Amino acid sequence: MKNKKTSTGGLSLIFIDRQEVVEMLPNDWKAKAKSITDTLLATQSDAARKKLIGENEDLWRSIKGVLAKVSHDKCWYCETADVRSDNAVDHFRPKGRVAGVASHQGYWWLAFDVKNYRFACTFCNSRRHGDGGTTGGKADHFPLLDGSQRAGGPSVSISIEIPMLLDPCDYVDTTAIWFDETGQVKVNPEVLAVDDNASDRVCISRDIYHLDHVRLIEARKRIFLGVLDMCDRADNALLTYKSTQDPNARTLFRDSINSLKRMKNRDAPYSSVAICAVKGYRNSSPSAKLVAEA
Ligand SMILES: [Zn+2]
Repeated sequence: MKNKKTSTGGLSLIFIDRQEVVEMLPNDWKAKAKSITDTLLATQSDAARKKLIGENEDLWRSIKGVLAKVSHDKCWYCETADVRSDNAVDHFRPKGRVAGVASHQGYWWLAFDVKNYRFACTFCNSRRHGDGGTTGGKADHFPLLDGSQRAGGPSVSISIEIPMLLDPCDYVDTTAIWFDETGQVKVNPEVLAVDDNASDRVCISRDIYHLDHVRLIEARKRIFLGVLDMCDRADNALLTYKSTQDPNARTLFRDSINSLKRMKNRDAPYSSVAICAVKGYRNSSPSAKLVAEA
């Protein structure tokens, strides 16, 4: 048995390409969303806007299946796939209010903007207590690096904002988190070169998305260690084949590599953890190195 030494580097959260979602939407849905947004923009009173949003909630609920499909039914924030959970369409920028910012009426003008939707599990989306004593859940939280640079209405571009929450639709953000054999959320040191605030953003995202929920940590640990074991199995089979030319060992090696490749696939459970595991183990295991580069 080798010393299971792992290092860091690489992609770690599931990446969702918003363009893929937009392309899957029916045209009549897009037309309806635009029409309601136009009405919202022409509505002066906050109460009337809230009423209009409330009356049209079914519109975003109706595309939950599309959002789920692009992630193979996994939560975009934590990658948990729970077929019995009634996952939600989360508004990344909250539509009705912003926690801790009493003067803000929420990003109401993005209520029907598909680019503001994220497919989220109950633990990531709603305030809940975990069984390990942790609390989390996004709800109306949307903290910024600089609260004075917040778009207060549709006339100000949201591009002035630097969100503290990592966004699964932003590729750079998906590289910020790193997982290791502890199952805990860590900062990927490589991302610090492109995002000075990555450490704080990872901490805040971990707390708000409830990524330190004990059941999630245990699930990640199982995947991580499962990958390392599979790497060892492949390495041992390869060694045996090289010394004996036993075709069974050759088959075992190749089957194990296929299994490792499958664990990294986007539809596999916690594939981001599996990706971290092979990358982290690549300097200790020739099989991990092979699959990390695949
Ligand atoms: Zn989740």
